[in-house]
Amino acid sequence: MGLASDYPVIVVTGGSRGIGAATARLAAVQGYNVILSYAESESAALAVVAEIEAAGRHAFAVQADCADPKQITGLFEQVDQRFGRIDVLVNNAGVLFQQSRLENVGFERMQRTFAVNTLGPMLCSQQAVKRMAYCHGGQGGSIVNVSSIAAKLGSPNEYVDYAASKGALETFTTGFAKEVAREGIRVNCVRPGHIYTEMHASGGEPDRVDRLKDSIPMGRGGQAEEVARAILWLASSEASFVTGAFLDTTGGK
Ligand code: NAP
Repeated sequence: MGLASDYPVIVVTGGSRGIGAATARLAAVQGYNVILSYAESESAALAVVAEIEAAGRHAFAVQADCADPKQITGLFEQVDQRFGRIDVLVNNAGVLFQQSRLENVGFERMQRTFAVNTLGPMLCSQQAVKRMAYCHGGQGGSIVNVSSIAAKLGSPNEYVDYAASKGALETFTTGFAKEVAREGIRVNCVRPGHIYTEMHASGGEPDRVDRLKDSIPMGRGGQAEEVARAILWLASSEASFVTGAFLDTTGGK
């Protein structure tokens, strides 16, 4: 049984931790009902859901690997069943792997990096456009892709595969924004810089932000909530004439 209501609905992929969890929490404060996906961290996802429910909004967590088309279809079926509407999609889920030079990066890792970081957002956007676009009977909507300043810097000696997957996500943002601009859908992108989350542990350096913070013009790393605010501004009607745009949240890097 769905929860039809007047509140807008936001879908945040990778909402169990880091930037996605901060976005889900702040979205609830701003009045959204929330569907968040996760890959493995069920207890963390359920904790975010509990916080949102305690704040008076509805939230659901769905395990859905955003590199798997069937699981993505299942995620959006849950959106239909739970809420019957979708106003905002945040393509936030992303992965990176052990810091390495390219010659030591295997093909499977390259495939996984592109599947999660590039194809996942494209698959989710396909599902969203079928529900949002005027030509499909929708009311319009907003999509925000979470790229990385790595798309510009290239991440040499760390993860050029990750940087390249984000570069492709940015090109997708540009083309898709134009493709659906007359269908009531805005598509934008944030580029976080060095943000304090658990992602850096996946690269083998949990304290990476502290190592690099002196290279940031503002002299500090960013917090997930600072990225969340940028995401939710782009998603909101405050940004009603903004599409195909890129917003760096990097402290000036
Ligand atoms: P994080 O703390 O590692 O969290 C990643 C989130 O994505 C988790 O919720 C994780 O779910 C989810 N996820 C990973 N693979 C998934 C998959 N295949 N399907 C569904 N969900 C998946 O990372 P973060 O730092 O918040 O990063 C969020 C986004 O910001 C990413 O796109 C990242 O590339 C980008 N970004 C981060 C930084 C930074 O400095 N942190 C900088 C630039 C860009 P589980 O909890 O289940 O694993």
